[in-house]
Amino acid sequence: MPADTAFSLKETYPYYLANEARQPNTDLDVTDKYTGEVATRVAMADEAAIDEAIAHAVTAAEPMAALKSYQRREVLDHCVARFTERFDELAAALTVEAGKPINDSRGEVTRLIETFRIAAGEAERIYGEVMPLDNAARAANYQGMWKRVPIGPCSFISPFNFPLNLAAHKVAPALAVGCPFVLKPASLTPIGALIIGEVLAETDLPKGAFSILPAHREGAALFTEDPRFKLISFTGSPGVGWDLKAKAGKKPIILELGGNAAVIVEDWDITDAVDRIIFGAFYQSGQSCISAQRCLIRDELYDETKAALVKKVSQLKSGDPRKEDTFVGPIISKKEADRIESWIEQAKEKGATVLTGGKREGNVIEATILENVPADCDIVSEEAFGPVLVIDKYKDYDEALARTNDSQFGLQAGIFTRDLYKAHKAWDTLDVGGVIIGDVPSWRVDHMPYGGVKESGLGREGIRFAIEDMTEIRLMAIRTP
Ligand code: NAD
Repeated sequence: MPADTAFSLKETYPYYLANEARQPNTDLDVTDKYTGEVATRVAMADEAAIDEAIAHAVTAAEPMAALKSYQRREVLDHCVARFTERFDELAAALTVEAGKPINDSRGEVTRLIETFRIAAGEAERIYGEVMPLDNAARAANYQGMWKRVPIGPCSFISPFNFPLNLAAHKVAPALAVGCPFVLKPASLTPIGALIIGEVLAETDLPKGAFSILPAHREGAALFTEDPRFKLISFTGSPGVGWDLKAKAGKKPIILELGGNAAVIVEDWDITDAVDRIIFGAFYQSGQSCISAQRCLIRDELYDETKAALVKKVSQLKSGDPRKEDTFVGPIISKKEADRIESWIEQAKEKGATVLTGGKREGNVIEATILENVPADCDIVSEEAFGPVLVIDKYKDYDEALARTNDSQFGLQAGIFTRDLYKAHKAWDTLDVGGVIIGDVPSWRVDHMPYGGVKESGLGREGIRFAIEDMTEIRLMAIRTP
């Protein structure tokens, strides 16, 4: 257990089945990702428990759909208030279970609260439309109206890297529209989601409205394959996500997957661009799906930008995520740290230069900048998901856009340009879910449409956009003879 009591977790955590805490076992050890010690033990759901949760979600679909918007809003408002009260505890839990530097953890709790607050507002704005249907003679006496109705029981699967906020991106819109759900958090980092469960259990949501179940792989199959679910929303790696889509049957599936995002420095104040690129590449220790991984710099700006980047990045502190000045904490597991290290080695063998960083202690990899990296190296063409930035120069803006597009992924791209024409050109030509002008691809607020194309996924999150997926349009046409 961590010595510092402020970072202590409870000894065990129950799971939540049909709104109730249950502790049938303590099968899952959750480690402190910095010390490697077991920090707490968590109940794991077996197939029978998941099956029971789905049955309850089916029963809850009707009473959930019958909730009035003010009641759904009250539930979300309660969450906002309780998360705010428990801010420090939530941030500490993230730092322990995910190894997230404490300042990044605080940032994530802030976003959790924002996400629920935005969803509380959206709960009151689920509008429909009255529309004329009389544009054909045969429909002259008809009038139409449509409204949104909740889609029904949802299956949610969330990843390790934002244990709170990526669960919130599914849970909060489901509560805003009145969909029951069963959530499977990542086994590496289940605590954030279980604390969300603790707070939801304080409300009077209809029984079965929510279940939050860490699960073994065998049980996890039910989250995709069970036909009682009406929607699957998955955030995680492309390999798993596309595999789940193949198994999802007729159910719609939202896939929020990985990327190897590019940032272009075309014409911008170098100090500002460098500060933002450092944030974009190294916050979260690079374990963000929109981490700035490939940095393309106009050749006239290259030397000055490179020098400023290397100077500042070499001063970033790495190590214990509990320390206020730590910028780069541990990678989530030894396996992932080994992978990142081997990709850096591969790049070096193929001729890359390490400009700063490159060293490892335990699972902490220093903030690393590479140049002269051949395009076929994994650290360029695959998702690094670690604190590594590859920099390169270009001569021509069109070349930079083409190289940004030269990726199997397409989540977001960042362009440092003051030129409106160039901004529009990027927006028109980049094959990504979002183009961020004057900032890094890693920038996100929680109500904007967010998601990817190509290997990066299908569909969009961002509360209003998730609400569209979690509702169906139901028409009523009225004939007046
Ligand atoms: P992962 O794919 O290993 O796991 C994600 C979730 O899926 C976990 O809960 C895991 O237990 C579960 N899972 C794994 N195999 C499963 C199966 N066969 N059936 C059902 N569930 C299964 O991903 P991860 O390592 O936790 O997260 C990192 C990945 O997530 C990166 O690729 C990152 O880019 C991506 N990500 C994407 C976004 C986005 O919004 N686009 C956000 C964060 C992370």
